[in-house]
Amino acid sequence: MKQRIYIHDVAVRDGFQIEREFIPTETKVALIDELSKTGLAKIEVASFVSAKAIPNMRDAEQVLSLIERVPGVIYSVLAPNLRGVERAMQCHVDEINLFCSASESHNRANVNRAVAQSLQGFGEIMQALSGSDLKVNGNISTAFGCPFEGAVAPGKVFALVDQFLELGFDGVTIADTTGMANPKQVRELMTEIAKRCAEVELTLHFHNTRGMGLANVLAGLDAGVMRYDAALGGLGGCPFAPGASGNICTEDLVHMLESMGYDTGVNLDRLLKAAGKISGIVGHDVPGQVLKAGKSTDLHTLDSVASSAG
Ligand code: ZN
Repeated sequence: MKQRIYIHDVAVRDGFQIEREFIPTETKVALIDELSKTGLAKIEVASFVSAKAIPNMRDAEQVLSLIERVPGVIYSVLAPNLRGVERAMQCHVDEINLFCSASESHNRANVNRAVAQSLQGFGEIMQALSGSDLKVNGNISTAFGCPFEGAVAPGKVFALVDQFLELGFDGVTIADTTGMANPKQVRELMTEIAKRCAEVELTLHFHNTRGMGLANVLAGLDAGVMRYDAALGGLGGCPFAPGASGNICTEDLVHMLESMGYDTGVNLDRLLKAAGKISGIVGHDVPGQVLKAGKSTDLHTLDSVASSAG
């Protein structure tokens, strides 16, 4: 039997949040509805942050009220604090993502708090959520390196993972926010974290900033991680981290995994159809490769290419 790998698309949140132009609500809704029918396990649809900080997320409530929810798909959102969590609950989301960084400087830049303050806030959120069936996923940003501090000691990441588990989170995401991770590092760090997270859902979140994204997925697979975040077209970035560029590209990831014999549950043709609309939506070219080259199984006729000898 093929091994199942779960793909989460974050284009509408991680991707659209850094776009300068406001992406109309109906465009976001149409894209989410199309993605819902591709077989993706999870779609991150919005972020309940201040509209001033991230203007493209100012319609989070409308987006959530207008999308068509397909059974089996997890609709998740990002929430920076209790206020964001309360807004998310009013919208009946399936899962909230809480986040803090493994490095103090990035946490300051991102949420203007010390890591310890973030953790204290998570405790208050978990208290407010007691009795609710809302799933909580904890994200550790800059887990493989910080653009302000450089290397991040693995012990810091392990300690945060342990604290997330103590808080009772249902899942943990280890994020390479600015594309600093390399495959050797991923294999080593994730082998240890996978042992700690045997009872919860463990996800990896890579950015392809330095071209190591898909190689890092292979290292994650070696460590036994079965869940991956990615963004359609390879959109993405972090507004509070210099030089942070695109997430790994969802359709490239699905194409790679399926051609290796994994079962992603995703219909690649439908996904490519949705991906084909991304550059039109954001108004610029996007990094995705398979969309440009076609699938490796797409064959060309000989007479479609001019012979160099002819
Ligand atoms: Zn990201």
